[in-house]
Amino acid sequence: MRFFSTRDRPVHLGPFPLERLARADAMPNLAAIPLTPPVSFRRDDAPASIVNAMRDYQATLDAIRTGPVNPERSRCPDDPAERARHLKAFATFSDAGMVGIGPVPPEAPRDDPLVNPDIDALAETLRTAETKTLAAGIDLIMADLRDSMAAPPAPMGRHDHALVVLCEHPRDPDPAEPGAAWIADAQAQRAGLRAAETAVVLANYIRLLGHDARAHTVSASDVSLERLAVAAGLATIAPDAPCGIANPFVGARFSLAAVTTTFAMTHDAPLAPDAAPPRIAWRLGWGSERRAASATPYAKRRFVDGPHPFETLRRVDEPTTFIDEARVARVPKRTDMFARAQFGDMGRAVQENATGGYFARKAAPSTAQRRPLGAFVPLQDGPHADAVPPEARDPRANADCIKAAAYFLGADAVGLSRCPDWAWYSHDARGDPIEPVQDHAVSIIIDQGFDTTEGTSGDDWIAVAQSMRAYLRFSLIGGVLARQIRNLGYAATAHTSMAGEVLQPPLLLLSGLGEVSRIGEVILNPFLGPRLKSGVVTTTMPMAHDKPIDFGIQRFCEGCNKCARECPAGAITAGPKTMFNGYEIWKSDSQKCTTYRVTTPGGAMCGRCMKTCPWNLEGVFREAPFRWAAMNAPALAPALARLDDAVGNGEINPVKTWWWNLKVDDRGGYHPVDEAEEPVNRRSLSKGLDLRHEDQTLAVYPATLAPHPWPFPAPMDREAGIAAYRAMISADEYRDRLARGETDGLAHEYRIDGDAPVVAVRVAKAEPMAGGVVKYEL
Ligand code: SF4
Ligand code: SF4
Repeated sequence: MRFFSTRDRPVHLGPFPLERLARADAMPNLAAIPLTPPVSFRRDDAPASIVNAMRDYQATLDAIRTGPVNPERSRCPDDPAERARHLKAFATFSDAGMVGIGPVPPEAPRDDPLVNPDIDALAETLRTAETKTLAAGIDLIMADLRDSMAAPPAPMGRHDHALVVLCEHPRDPDPAEPGAAWIADAQAQRAGLRAAETAVVLANYIRLLGHDARAHTVSASDVSLERLAVAAGLATIAPDAPCGIANPFVGARFSLAAVTTTFAMTHDAPLAPDAAPPRIAWRLGWGSERRAASATPYAKRRFVDGPHPFETLRRVDEPTTFIDEARVARVPKRTDMFARAQFGDMGRAVQENATGGYFARKAAPSTAQRRPLGAFVPLQDGPHADAVPPEARDPRANADCIKAAAYFLGADAVGLSRCPDWAWYSHDARGDPIEPVQDHAVSIIIDQGFDTTEGTSGDDWIAVAQSMRAYLRFSLIGGVLARQIRNLGYAATAHTSMAGEVLQPPLLLLSGLGEVSRIGEVILNPFLGPRLKSGVVTTTMPMAHDKPIDFGIQRFCEGCNKCARECPAGAITAGPKTMFNGYEIWKSDSQKCTTYRVTTPGGAMCGRCMKTCPWNLEGVFREAPFRWAAMNAPALAPALARLDDAVGNGEINPVKTWWWNLKVDDRGGYHPVDEAEEPVNRRSLSKGLDLRHEDQTLAVYPATLAPHPWPFPAPMDREAGIAAYRAMISADEYRDRLARGETDGLAHEYRIDGDAPVVAVRVAKAEPMAGGVVKYEL
């Protein structure tokens, strides 16, 4: 836990106090830094190594490290200092440990560019890969990926600027610690992969703004990353270090990636040869997020335990909310609200904003993130090895290895549970029935990031990128994990935001990652609050399961309704929990929420409920009394929520607002929004609003929709939805009826009647554009 808050630290400075290091007046002799060989992602002699599972992911990122430049150049700020701050903040938002910007000196380009040898094999895999997804434009994303793999990148043009990303290594796993078997000797690959993810997204972003840029990674690069790092003020020359350079905070324990570009930015000065952390401040962590004791992640914790003290939580046999497992209606993928939006069920305005994922591509950062997110889809599933090695047969050892690997890769919380049939959709995105054959679930949650959440209203121009960042991170971690399990002879599938066949909230409950909250389908975690996105890996690998948790949030949410008060769509109930589809839940109005998120003109998407919840905490020492009281005396919820208001939690912290409000235009260019036409959603807390349940009109849409593509579209009947909402009953009444044998009407009937009506094709034109973007016309 940190002692000091960093609420007044701008995001571009990053978690380490780089700005306090002494700088040199002149560029060091970069030619003295040796050129390093590529990092290999092959461990043929160690089939259980996680390195083998990372291979295709690294190759995918390397394949898309270049790409077309948007011909519509953005009218973004042209001040090079502002540009440098902006891109450093974007890299920090993407979890780079440190970021520096420097020139591309003559010593940096390599005569022998690194070429990833695994791209060819990946291209062969993708030739036959299937993508079962409702995500619009995935076919064109796949075509983009295949094209990228077919031809090696052209020689690099003249790039004068380099942004260098440094990802620090966590502690080396101890061979004797639980779960260490898969993650031994994988530091360079792990940090190289994570750095590559950030560099590929940023390079894509710069190209979307209309400037040439390419990413360089530990396995595919036209430049010496080490020489760039010294030129950008991230490291000093250290002849004794393995790669010839060292960083004052983490020594030689890091991996690099870079973006070279024509996009002019202010350069950092190189570090002074004797640059060293400020002694006392670095020791105490004063003024920066990281300090001496936290410079090395997992220095004092076992990987299998993760970064948060889950071991301190109370475990229970059943989730704290009732699930009538026998009557949970399995629903087709077509019932997903974003699918319904795309198919026109909510009307034309919503459909126009949803088609082609416009709500995601209308902001530039999320568009940049979507390219690798789409490129990972074909890797989510695949054939598994023929034989299971003896060391992968013990459920306890498997559970430890899964958790340790997920945390090593960067997951924020992991829980293991059964994967009951009722957690699976009934039909996939193509309308084919789903046979639940994988009966274990690995649920993973990704923190959406406290700092950027501080700087946003929750529904402005960064909201969608906050989601995409977490979705991308899970796609990477969950995908690597699924591949690792398949390499060991078991079936395993990653279920991501782009393509998934399980309902995640019940699995998060079963695996002890959180409890039901007033926000509805959002499972609230005791350490991250609702500030999270999730993903699931299903598998046949036997594993020991975790138990659900009880940290008092049921009683807390009964006494707090801040999220309902702050929801701009009025979608969250201020009333009690009811039974819906067999679940006890504070049922929100999904139509209102989806409509708002997809169509809001003052931003892109929404997570204001997540932003304003009192459980969205920074994780510093002074919050400990709040967390203790919230967990142990939830009756204090109204007072704690008022206190949360009083101290200003949930307001926008402008120090953390780092992004540009750029919106795509009809020609595919990203330009500053016209605030006279479309004011940005900058909201203050509605402290004076006394929201009452009896004043709300909410609707609910039980699972009665048949599989894709039937019926097409299926307009939502709001009046019937309102009536259905009012007819919902409490869990107590539900249980009473069950006890009396009065089960009629408790479950929602799910039927497919009659023939499919004529399918209406609404997309008139799909035009590929720069950055993996597809422009649609209806
Ligand atoms: Fe309301 Fe936004 Fe949360 Fe949806 S995401 S429930 S619209 S605050
Ligand atoms: Fe629960 Fe309050 Fe958070 Fe809403 S804002 S989820 S009511 S704690």
